[in-house]
Amino acid sequence: MMIQAVLRSNGLRRTWFGIYSAGMEPIDCLDLASSTGLPWVELSLVASNAIDATSLGPRLALPLSLSLPLTDQTARLKHAMPYQLLGLADPADCDRYTVRADEEFTLEFEESKVDDSELLQAPLVRYARHLLLHAITNGASDIHINPLAEDCQVLFRIDGFLVEQPKPPNQLNKRLLARIKVMANLDLTESGQAQDGVLSVEDIQGISRRFRVSVLPSLHGEKAVLRLVGHAQEIPLLGDLGFTPHQLNEVNELLDHTQGLILVTGPTGSGKSLTLGRILMDLARNDRHVASVEDPIEFELPNVHQVQLNRSRNLDFPASLRALLRQDPDVLMVGEIRDQETAEIALQAAETGHLVLSTLHTKRPSDAYQRLAHFGLSEPHLRSVLRIVIGQRLVRTLCAICTGSGCSECQNGYRGRTGLFQYWRPGDAPKPEHTDYEESIRYHLAHQRTTWQEITRVLGRSNHHVVA
Ligand SMILES: [Zn+2]
Repeated sequence: MMIQAVLRSNGLRRTWFGIYSAGMEPIDCLDLASSTGLPWVELSLVASNAIDATSLGPRLALPLSLSLPLTDQTARLKHAMPYQLLGLADPADCDRYTVRADEEFTLEFEESKVDDSELLQAPLVRYARHLLLHAITNGASDIHINPLAEDCQVLFRIDGFLVEQPKPPNQLNKRLLARIKVMANLDLTESGQAQDGVLSVEDIQGISRRFRVSVLPSLHGEKAVLRLVGHAQEIPLLGDLGFTPHQLNEVNELLDHTQGLILVTGPTGSGKSLTLGRILMDLARNDRHVASVEDPIEFELPNVHQVQLNRSRNLDFPASLRALLRQDPDVLMVGEIRDQETAEIALQAAETGHLVLSTLHTKRPSDAYQRLAHFGLSEPHLRSVLRIVIGQRLVRTLCAICTGSGCSECQNGYRGRTGLFQYWRPGDAPKPEHTDYEESIRYHLAHQRTTWQEITRVLGRSNHHVVA
């Protein structure tokens, strides 16, 4: 681990030094550089061989020397690394940069022999990578890079909320988007049109992670949104998704069936993909051929034959489904039922020896029935095939460390999310809307996993009677 900083001698010439700092991640160095207004460069370019890596800690051997005029930038160095450079002589007292860090060692700087373009390239590459890794380790689902008039803004979506991140270091700021486009194989020369791509990065454990990248022109330049494709390791066990014990029993029974249709409903971002992902992974363990058609693939699932829709090649839901059905699947997941043709094929598969799972965008689970009927499916037919509709929402869970008072590990007392579920079966008596999710709400409140405030935020105010 290291800290980097830059000295700017004048507009053209730059030089720099680096020091090791135990317990500090490179991303923190970037934050530090950014917050102190110091540009940031890659240490390895200059003096990696100068650092005695065997003696981590405050000891440092930099056989470099440098003469530079004093500037405001260099004066600020002292404040950039207060704990490492406590012994730094006051730059105001120096006319040369022979900087003494303390009694034991001396830092001396020398002029850079590296040209500007090389100097700027490596930090950009590293910064972009650190940004992606930082998002992964912080549990972000999306990264937003918003162009502003002067610079750019970076936000992570964590547990459903956008959280602003430290700005990229000044000299990298406007070039971050170009780097993302390069990583996603997008056309750098094109900035007036929407572009989509995929980029991969290896995470800290060496696992390859993918981001879907969407770039769109806006007022101050292109805006990029990166959606992290989920990894199977991140999908909780069925029992940890938020089902009540009673609900969990019912789900487990359902999954013993070999045919029929199971629907999961809820708005975008309500956790439907997570639930279906876990169910598919569990089913794939039982010697069954599990296949899915998705648009887009949100989680990469082991042992599941996942097909990504591709409209430009006429691979839409109906076409993909027909093709997959010829491949002898036991379990089939259809990302979403959006049209009559898909509904008909899914229903037909569900009554001919396949367990079919899918999602529908409906507000309440009971609405799913009307929606399918609207696609022209007859009610008796539906009734015989549709086993269950599972409604799902996600609520934020209280932080286990501070139990909701707020700490550095959470966002306003919340950390992570859990599901609220409710079931509906054909033939169930209609229930008033304000009783939706009642069993889940009571369960989570009784176990102090979330708050009433959070539940009303997600469901609206109509459920007030539950606690009353
Ligand atoms: Zn906390």
